[in-house]
Amino acid sequence: MTLPKTQRLQADLLAWYDRHRRVLPWRAAPGERADPYAVWLSEIMLQQTTVATVKNYFERFLQRWPTVKHLAAAPLDDVLTEWAGLGYYARARNLHKCAAVVAEQHGGRFPADEAALLALPGIGRYTAAAIAAIAFDRPATVVDGNVERVVSRLHAIETPLPESKPEIWRRAGAITPEKRAGDFAQAMMDLGATVCTPRNPLCMVCPWSWACEARAAGVAAELPRKKDKKPRPTRYGMAFWLERDGPAGREVLLRRRPEEGLLGGMMEVPSSPWVEDDAADGWSHAPAQAEWTAVDEPVVHVFTHFRLELDVVRGEVSAGAKAEGIWVRLDRLADYALPTVMTKIVKTAMG
Ligand code: SF4
Repeated sequence: MTLPKTQRLQADLLAWYDRHRRVLPWRAAPGERADPYAVWLSEIMLQQTTVATVKNYFERFLQRWPTVKHLAAAPLDDVLTEWAGLGYYARARNLHKCAAVVAEQHGGRFPADEAALLALPGIGRYTAAAIAAIAFDRPATVVDGNVERVVSRLHAIETPLPESKPEIWRRAGAITPEKRAGDFAQAMMDLGATVCTPRNPLCMVCPWSWACEARAAGVAAELPRKKDKKPRPTRYGMAFWLERDGPAGREVLLRRRPEEGLLGGMMEVPSSPWVEDDAADGWSHAPAQAEWTAVDEPVVHVFTHFRLELDVVRGEVSAGAKAEGIWVRLDRLADYALPTVMTKIVKTAMG
């Protein structure tokens, strides 16, 4: 029986992974469930550094602090010292903060779902998806640089990065299987790291060569295209889409940006400061206490000097609830001059 294309892509990649998976110290043996602590630790370390460098650090950390509770109980200075050489100390601080939250608020167990993971210090969209998939086998879509390259080539996406990111996420999501999602995510990463390499992809041994549009078009090594030779820095933040029932219909909270600075004085969906550290804690800038849920795709907007990536979360408060800002009826939003980046948030939040 011939499988539909998506299922065949999934089956072929998983079969390839079963034969060619990389052995990594944080990876569970075939058929075993990975330790969420180990997955989290490795993912945070890997955000800055190569697999080869991380291996040593990872093993030292795990030996010294075998569980998240041990790490939470360690003095911050010890953690920073052990981290020395990995750079980006904000990550080590967040690592320690996150361990404390998991130990104190989650009884030493990482939550399994992406939104709850995203609420932890230092865990951004990618890391939340990676932990959910790899440690808990949730069907989360994990897109790192390797996956971006593989997916761009599989579908011959000619739009340059970073504009192509939403399409890449969508395409990657469409082939994420319900079962073995963790293996699938790691398989895509391994494929990108060992076969679908940046300069000389080894299409002859690729399990997806039969389906790969870039290979068929002879442009594999040229993809993904990148827009700028000189990359713009990326800043990150969170946007909080907060609704309530108003006297005349649904309302959303807006507020005015400070006069000084970018988009000065313009209306915005309340957001955290836009910073270069993608693991910065945005939650402390939430305009109200609410049950927040993450919206799937981040809003990407390119300003002259930087690219902005905003994680959008949606929440709701009761009818009379107070929050700093202006409650605007959803059907009156058009009366407000929102800058483009904000209209993108509106579109994303309202689906
Ligand atoms: Fe990458 Fe080649 Fe495989 Fe396409 S066929 S996914 S370009 S290695």
